Amino acid sequence: MSDAPLYLQPRLTAGPASLLRAGPFLHGLVDGLGSPLAVVLPEEIGRNAAQFAAVLRRHRLGGRIYFAHKATGSSALVRHLAATSACLDAASPEELQHALGAGFTGGRLMATGPKDPAFLWLAARTGTTVNADGPGELEQAARLVRAHGLPRLEVVLRLSGFEAAGARTLSRRSRFGTPAAALGPLLDLLEKHRDALEPVGVGYHLDTTSTDEKATALEGCIRAVDALRSRGFRPRAIDVGGGYGVSYLAHAAQWERYTTALTEAALGRRGPLAWGGYGYGLRVENGTLKGSLALYPAHRPAAGPAYLDELLSRPAPTLGRPLGTLLLESLCDVYAEPGRALADQCGLTLGRVLEVRTDTGGPPWVRLALNAGDVGLEDHGVLVDPVLVPRRSEPPPPDGPGAVGVHLMGNLCLEADLITRRTVFLPRLPDPGDLLAFPNTAGYCMDFTATRAQRQPTARKVAVREEEGVWRWCLDEQYWPVTEAGG
Ligand SMILES: *Cc1c(COP(=O)(O)O)cnc(C)c1O
Repeated sequence: MSDAPLYLQPRLTAGPASLLRAGPFLHGLVDGLGSPLAVVLPEEIGRNAAQFAAVLRRHRLGGRIYFAHKATGSSALVRHLAATSACLDAASPEELQHALGAGFTGGRLMATGPKDPAFLWLAARTGTTVNADGPGELEQAARLVRAHGLPRLEVVLRLSGFEAAGARTLSRRSRFGTPAAALGPLLDLLEKHRDALEPVGVGYHLDTTSTDEKATALEGCIRAVDALRSRGFRPRAIDVGGGYGVSYLAHAAQWERYTTALTEAALGRRGPLAWGGYGYGLRVENGTLKGSLALYPAHRPAAGPAYLDELLSRPAPTLGRPLGTLLLESLCDVYAEPGRALADQCGLTLGRVLEVRTDTGGPPWVRLALNAGDVGLEDHGVLVDPVLVPRRSEPPPPDGPGAVGVHLMGNLCLEADLITRRTVFLPRLPDPGDLLAFPNTAGYCMDFTATRAQRQPTARKVAVREEEGVWRWCLDEQYWPVTEAGG
């Protein structure tokens, strides 16, 4: 069965699945607003935030879910979230201004990322909690607070380089945070600035899927909270960062089959699966397989809220009892900063098929009115199939006789502008005028890599909502979480 189509079908919840069945609506949008088109579903982000909050409740923990704004450029998603009880993590002064303009107030905001004086001042002025990278930022924040007569500024201390007791050091180096071993001098500094800064907690953000590393970091934070208390501070939260992940694929078996096939292709046991024999990190040297798959784990058994649940249920590496229990006993709230996971299912990117070439001597080429920067899936190592939205006919069944592997070409005059380097399987060969919908792009894959190369427009963005079976839309910047009737 080695030439059965190697599908990587997307996992879709009810909202986006229903949207993708609304073919005439999607074609009408692209007819009017052009290709590419980014579509966001604001209601999904509210649903995701509620699921994260429910995990904390299940562990009887208080806390806050901070959406890491940097995952999206959408106003609709941020404004919709402002109408819920979720919070937001801003990584730049522009994101902070955007969040304030969307209806968030300082008490529900946190400033992370590299900070210049203007960012620190705006945070301090609006009562935004500052997630401080190190002593330099704390010194500067204290100076600003005094110079401008501002209220005491809440700060969270970002730590890194936690050591598992007696064992290996966390190998992952971060350019952010203060080494946990250097907490002492940081506390000296906070004592000096007691009048200006109030340390409300400590935290970490690890860009990894490993719960081992996160459990070590979380236990390290519980110890750090004790250290703060012994110096007379009153910390009340531990910030467990982001990185809960998204499961992009519907079927674990398809993912396993595909990654196995990539290995077989690298070993030459089957034909190439990608343009020019690209191997996504795998290669063969002297007959043995080298390298490792440089791919996002697109099917994940526990992602998003379930991943947070798993982390809180895990025993602490040295203290032994579940981390959630230890947090409860240390009277700490949990701050979590999901980006990608809160944007799960919140958007898709539409591209029109311009041309189909079958004279290629290999898989046909499907040329689209969009480029690799408009759909950052490949750039983020995420492999997931687009959904064919035909212009005229009904969507074909995936197991029909017309299934075909194609290459997806972008609209740039650039050899490398393939939407994805792999051969993508579609239930039938598309026709010019059909749409391909790239699923689940709202987190990082819509805005992070979009360019104006060749002066081509970046995608317009619309927000959509289903009301009693009818899909309605507005421009992203026109969206507010209220109805026209004022409700
Ligand atoms: C990027 C980032 C996040 C969000 O990460 P995800 O992997 O999208 O969940 C959270 N916190 C900080 C400090 C970040 O830099």
